[in-house]
Amino acid sequence: MRSYTEKQAHALDLARTTPRCGAKTRRGKPCQAPCVAKPEGGYKSRCRMHGGAAGSGAPKGNQNALKHGFYTAKAKQQRLLIRRFFKELQTSTTVSDEVLFSLVDALSPGDLTT
Ligand SMILES: [Zn+2]
Repeated sequence: MRSYTEKQAHALDLARTTPRCGAKTRRGKPCQAPCVAKPEGGYKSRCRMHGGAAGSGAPKGNQNALKHGFYTAKAKQQRLLIRRFFKELQTSTTVSDEVLFSLVDALSPGDLTT
C-alpha cells in the first residue's frame, strides 16, 4: 500500500469527510460530488454544479418567500427544543436545567409560531 506524508494524509482525510451533494442526477442517483464550503464555515448542501456555487442562493434573512414561518431556523430550533424537553420527560421525572433554560429562552411570549 502506498504511504502518504502527514500533509497528504490530512488532505485525504479532509476530502473523505467532506459532505456529499445529494442532488438527483439523470441516472436517478445522488450526485456525490463534494459540497461547497461556506466562507463563514460549514458546507452548503449542494456541489458547485447543483446550486452551491459562490454567490448563488438567497441572501441570509431573505423574507421573499415567507408564508407561515414553519421552516424558519427559529421555528425549527423551537421544535427541536420542545422534542428534547418531552424526550427527557419520558426517560426521567425531572428535566435538566440546560434543556429547560434553552426552551424558555426559545419560547419568549408571543413568539410561538407553531
Ligand atoms: Zn451535485
